[in-house]
Amino acid sequence: MNIHEYQGKAVLKEFGAPVSAGFPALTVAEAVEAAKKLPGPLYVVKSQIHAGGRGKGKFKELGPDAKGGVRLAKSVAEVESHAKEMLGNTLVTAQTGDAGKQVNRLYIEDGSDIEKEFYLSALVDRETSRVAFVISTEGGMDIEAVAHDTPEKIETFSVDPATGIMPHHGRAMARILGLSGDLAKQAGTVLGQIYTAFVSKDMDMLEINPLIVTTQGQIKCLDAKISFDSNSLYRHPEIVALRDTTEEDDKEIEASKYDLAYIALDGTIGCMVNGAGLAMATLDIIKLYGEEPANFLDVGGGATEEKVTAAFKIITADPQVKGILVNIFGGIMKCDVIARGVIAAVKAVGLQVPLVVRLEGTNVQEGKDIISSSGLNVISADDLDDAAQKIVAAIKKA
Ligand code: GDP
Ligand code: MG
Repeated sequence: MNIHEYQGKAVLKEFGAPVSAGFPALTVAEAVEAAKKLPGPLYVVKSQIHAGGRGKGKFKELGPDAKGGVRLAKSVAEVESHAKEMLGNTLVTAQTGDAGKQVNRLYIEDGSDIEKEFYLSALVDRETSRVAFVISTEGGMDIEAVAHDTPEKIETFSVDPATGIMPHHGRAMARILGLSGDLAKQAGTVLGQIYTAFVSKDMDMLEINPLIVTTQGQIKCLDAKISFDSNSLYRHPEIVALRDTTEEDDKEIEASKYDLAYIALDGTIGCMVNGAGLAMATLDIIKLYGEEPANFLDVGGGATEEKVTAAFKIITADPQVKGILVNIFGGIMKCDVIARGVIAAVKAVGLQVPLVVRLEGTNVQEGKDIISSSGLNVISADDLDDAAQKIVAAIKKA
């Protein structure tokens, strides 16, 4: 689960990490109020969307010459005019895709005077089963470009969970960033605060880009992008409360109500599969035959008919879907349950696109009988390869 920058900074602040003062704003009037509470003379007006690259982003409605999604302002009046331009408009960044994201919230922050911009992120390294830090002197800009062009400028180390963060980690960070004296000490402190926040809140990714040194010699987290491990959200109702569903895909929200593992993709073939491995294999084979999947969907092992119906409805509601492939290997899952779920959904919402069903495993004959006696126009397939070829051919014909 992702949260907004201003929420992430509030979480970091709880752990003592240095962030600027600021207030979120949903309206121009609130933005002005927020600015009045800050000391000035420099303010930052920041679009709050669940995507990075806002500074270099462009507003669709404002044309290529307008300023981006993070703007400096030198007066309350300037904050007001930026807020007017930004609120309600669509920001397109390297991470939003061409559709962009509508800016419905701003964060008005006390502006900092920047001496240096660094990069710091923390993530769970699956190789070592540890929290790893990624650190670079090249902060502020596109870290992907740094990784591509000058990978030696990005360094990493991980923390042994048995000892937790140690003074030598702080020294490693200071060495990487070329800091000494008080700044080295501040860096070590921030690193410890971030590690504690990361572990305490079950984060799976935290990115501070940039981590800055101000001209007054203070280290500060100037940006914060945080995502949390969805499997541990039950332990953190305070984090769940930060969820902004307007930032999420409608189909993914609907799927989460039924506890379905669903991820929207860009293609045209809707997929209903059981088991994550089989789901991934299904996506691969669709691509192999020249089409693109519209989603990843794992209905899970013990799905009920109701859950299967919900899953099928989510797929058919997607206007991008030109054909549907149901691929079930019934182990724990029973083929007849899938068949009943599909038929219930088709009865409820109709079927406008070709449907290929491949069933194998537990109660397969019962499942096939249910489908063939339903009178539905279903193309049946014998194996995965056959199923993929049939759905690709069917959408080409349609
Ligand atoms: P992003 O573009 O989505 O990563 O948004 P950031 O929060 O990282 O802001 C983009 C850039 O705006 C930063 O890299 C800074 O260069 C600049 N910026 C953000 N806040 C301040 C500030 O308080 N003072 C100054 N001078 N620049 C800032
Ligand atoms: Mg940033």
